[in-house]
Amino acid sequence: VAGIDFGAIRGQFPILDQRVHGHPLIYLDSAATAQKPQCVIDAEAEFYERDNAAVHRGAHELAARSTVAFEHARAAVARLVGACADEGGEEIVVTSGATAGLNLLATAFGNASLGRGGAAAARFALRPGDEIVVSKAEHHSVLLPFQELAARTGATLKWFDLDDEGRIRADMADEVITERTRIVAVTHVANVTGAITDIAPIIRRAHAVGALVVLDACQSVPHLAVDFHAMDVDFAVWSAHKMYGPTGVGFLYGRRELLEALPPASFGGSMVELAWMDREARYMAPPARFEAGTQPVAQVVAAGRAAAWMMDIGMAAIEAHERLIAAELLRLGDIEGVRVLGPRDNAGRIGTVAFDVQGVHPHDVGQFLDAQGIAIRVGHHCAQPVHRHFGLYASNRASSGVYNTVDDAAALVEAVAKVRPFFRV
Ligand code: PMP
Repeated sequence: VAGIDFGAIRGQFPILDQRVHGHPLIYLDSAATAQKPQCVIDAEAEFYERDNAAVHRGAHELAARSTVAFEHARAAVARLVGACADEGGEEIVVTSGATAGLNLLATAFGNASLGRGGAAAARFALRPGDEIVVSKAEHHSVLLPFQELAARTGATLKWFDLDDEGRIRADMADEVITERTRIVAVTHVANVTGAITDIAPIIRRAHAVGALVVLDACQSVPHLAVDFHAMDVDFAVWSAHKMYGPTGVGFLYGRRELLEALPPASFGGSMVELAWMDREARYMAPPARFEAGTQPVAQVVAAGRAAAWMMDIGMAAIEAHERLIAAELLRLGDIEGVRVLGPRDNAGRIGTVAFDVQGVHPHDVGQFLDAQGIAIRVGHHCAQPVHRHFGLYASNRASSGVYNTVDDAAALVEAVAKVRPFFRV
């Protein structure tokens, strides 16, 4: 990619400078979790070394500095995803990760269904016969909270089917999404197939019938330029640890007017304006209303640093760089007995390539590669329905990050070509 030294960027990741089983580490498991650049590691350490205090409380200097750092980070994250950053990023709620963000939404919708949150929250309430739409490509952390919400409210769970290459059948939007649909929760980029969902027709149809769109952006925010305002999504979730930030923290985006109407999902300190013994509490405005308890402040600060670092490189450049790696990874499909589970062409996908090696269990493939210092993911990747779609229980998955090189991908392809001969299948 012109003008950007991706070799120098790779050099910012101390963990990559090591040998595993005598071989230089080749890390191709960024879809599970990404490695952290030195500046992110430093941001977390420096926060603890200089500023550490509880935020939004306390009249002392450290509390003030911590609050500024926390809100500055929130604003950086808002800028990364095209959310409102101007007035303190009210559209960005801190969570402990994407899973927590999805459970927050499902719980809040469930609370609204019980009549909580007053008239303003009625738009989130579900009744028997209402429909929630997901897809067969969903991570369990989308499928299960919304399946549970359907069971609790009497709503019906429906889903988008997938095509032969595992893409969500967005062309079915008019059939799958009906006048009874209230919520559509789908992935922006699938964590097994790497396919980018053709999201525009789904959002258009959802809004035409008055349904809310929840986007799982776990695998898009780290790899693509996303703009939730331009996409016109209602809610989105993702995790910091996949975007070069720390574990234990994630974000929920919600359109401002929706967050203002949404009832809280968890309760405690720092989310309430007035609390009494004998009267109902009055909750704070978003995002605080959804951030009960002490937040992972150091991790949020470091996640903000990660967001700024990604924007410094430029999401278009990251996307272009990883497209080169994806092209090389897709050569896996040329190996005899190896099947790519996802789009074979490099348009409409990211550098996450799942594959099956005929006759060899994924755990054996993973160990064979690990012995050569190559880290990939094996198993069902928390997405069993998509594996069933391909007639499998588990698969192997290589996934790129900004630090990977085409040589990393080529080394993987070369090693995978030796798997079946090694296991004599
Ligand atoms: N959705 C997708 C598409 C994912 O890849 C992941 C992470 N495996 C999640 C949701 C859940 O993220 P987390 O485990 O960080 O909460």
